[in-house]
Amino acid sequence: MSSGKIGVTSDNLFPIIKKSLYSDHDIFLREIVSNAVDAIQKLKVLSSKGEYPGDMSGAKVRVVLNKKKKTLTVSDDGIGMTGEEVEKYINQIAFSGANEFLEKYKDDVNAIIGHFGLGFYSSFMVSSKVEIITRSWQEGAKAVKWSCEGNPEYILEETERETVGTDVIMHINKESAEFLEEQKISEILGKYCKFLPVPILFGKKKEWKEGKEVETEEDNQINETTPAWTRKPADLTDEDYLAFYRKLYPMADEPLFNIHLNVDYPFNLTGILYFPRIKNNLEVQKNKIQLYSNQVFVTDSVEGIVPDFLTLLHGVLDSPDIPLNVSRSYLQSDSNVKKISAHITKKVADRLQKIFKEKRDEFEKKWDNLKIFIEYGMLTEEKFNDRAESFFLLKNTEGKYFTLDEYEKLIKETQTDKDKNLIYLYTNHAEEQYTFVEAARSKGYDVLVMDDILSTPLINKLEQKYNNKRFTRVDADVIEHLIRKDDGEKKELSWEEKQELSPVFQAVAPENGGVSFIVDFKDLGEEGAPMVVTRNEWMRRMKDMSQFQQGMSFYGDMPESLNLVVNISHPLVRKVLDEKDQALGETLNSLQEELKNLKKEEGTLEKITKGKKEEEMPVADKERLEEVRKSLSAKEEEKRNKLKEFGRESKLAKQLVDLALLANGLLKGADLDKFVKRSVELIR
Ligand code: ADP
Repeated sequence: MSSGKIGVTSDNLFPIIKKSLYSDHDIFLREIVSNAVDAIQKLKVLSSKGEYPGDMSGAKVRVVLNKKKKTLTVSDDGIGMTGEEVEKYINQIAFSGANEFLEKYKDDVNAIIGHFGLGFYSSFMVSSKVEIITRSWQEGAKAVKWSCEGNPEYILEETERETVGTDVIMHINKESAEFLEEQKISEILGKYCKFLPVPILFGKKKEWKEGKEVETEEDNQINETTPAWTRKPADLTDEDYLAFYRKLYPMADEPLFNIHLNVDYPFNLTGILYFPRIKNNLEVQKNKIQLYSNQVFVTDSVEGIVPDFLTLLHGVLDSPDIPLNVSRSYLQSDSNVKKISAHITKKVADRLQKIFKEKRDEFEKKWDNLKIFIEYGMLTEEKFNDRAESFFLLKNTEGKYFTLDEYEKLIKETQTDKDKNLIYLYTNHAEEQYTFVEAARSKGYDVLVMDDILSTPLINKLEQKYNNKRFTRVDADVIEHLIRKDDGEKKELSWEEKQELSPVFQAVAPENGGVSFIVDFKDLGEEGAPMVVTRNEWMRRMKDMSQFQQGMSFYGDMPESLNLVVNISHPLVRKVLDEKDQALGETLNSLQEELKNLKKEEGTLEKITKGKKEEEMPVADKERLEEVRKSLSAKEEEKRNKLKEFGRESKLAKQLVDLALLANGLLKGADLDKFVKRSVELIR
């Protein structure tokens, strides 16, 4: 027997390991089990080279819980250690700069373990004492027992062990009693060890007998040693990929498709990424990718390791080249990690490109589910954007899909405006904007459906990139103006005429709901709609974007403003105007006459007072001018009120406005009810 002091240059180590309350204690089991797996794999190598004669085919790791003795033991049929090796590998944890590092990371035991390769010592997080009983593979090697009670002193003595291999016996401390629960150990093994390459046994298989769960004789293997990502793509069927997905995410819907990664230069990376079916809430979907290092689970929060848009994917990445036990900020600045991230992006783009080329049908069928990833990628990763433009699809209201190039060809003839801009018309709600969509289509235009949450930012991006492409939602303007061609002869109203008509329709425009209406007059032809409600594209888009960008909430808070476009050529509008003339003709004429006279007088008085200083003006003139101006605005007001009153009384005007609102899905509740009743009256 020998005893001594563990070669740690800092006495801080044990207290820190034991006190690491803030980190995840579960990982101790991952460390001990993966050491056991490594030991078996090392011996397998020796055996395959013929250096070790023993049979390794049945080699396994056993995890055994002894509640009575309060121990958790991990045993392996691995390479074992001689006394000298225990000295060297377990006792001599000498390292430089330790104090500094320990101080810095005192709350992050993961970082400490990773930094110093102290995997084994993490067992002291949960143990008051740890024993190693080990027998080396070397011929004639004597078994040794090492024990240590969580202080720098250890004991090393000879012992007996029947076979080659190692037992690590952890005497679980009082505070860590949870690690003596079978359930807890199963859970940890299930999390970290379920895809380890060597069989891991824990307890016995259970089965249901007469309504009770009973143990069988058979060992319970908790892991699958050759998970799908470690196998060759050629050996896997679609069903295999699906089965693996179900194993990873038992509750998820079937994925859209998968990408099997297999890189060995300039770094090692394998894995399978799945495109899941996205539900509405993108955040919930994030961070489902599991990161492994040589089949040992490390983490499922992969931000910083894979590009942001790929955190929406599901699946597994396995790389011994990603430094695993280090802190997140370290990971994010690691150049290896950056390279890996860029490479994954490229692979994903290549794969999508390939599916698009080879199976366009299938790709189109999945597009509606898939597009959110691609749009997100295009918006956040420039490199991905460049590649994605060849398979990014636009869908029109007929449900046909086009690449950007194809679509450009389709609409070039018909949808180029007078300034040579190509106008992409779109709807975000074909049902609600039906009238507009139909108007555009009957004019021979094509209408796209762009209806997901990323459509607006994506449209902005495309417009920025291609400055001769413009996207316009179908309800942004009346059909004649959606795509401005060389304007033919159109009726225009004079300013005076507009002054006279505005109040009539302003009076019937709805006022509730924080929406303001601006009345405008256009000649949309006799066949066009009598009135149309439009939404300015730019204002609307600013409002849409305000939900994505900080500092844009100004736009979000602005009241919505809509245009009420009155078609001055439509017979029904003309009818309203005729009715107005009939009802108000005389009143308006006499008001007009008075206004004319007042204006005239104003003009004369202005001439007299012009250029004179205040005190030089004849008092009488000055006073008269003020009077005249007052009466002018009073008369104007009177005229406006008469017109408004007429508008409010005009069922036809009200009906026309409501029809326009109805076509936009804006007529609701009590207003809708009134409209229906009024319609019945009008028909009767
Ligand atoms: P790491 O595994 O990162 O090298 P550890 O502290 O976990 O650090 O282990 C130190 C060394 O102890 C290992 O490299 C290995 O040589 C030896 N060792 C640990 N566990 C076993 C085991 N079960 N069988 C054989 N050797 C082991």
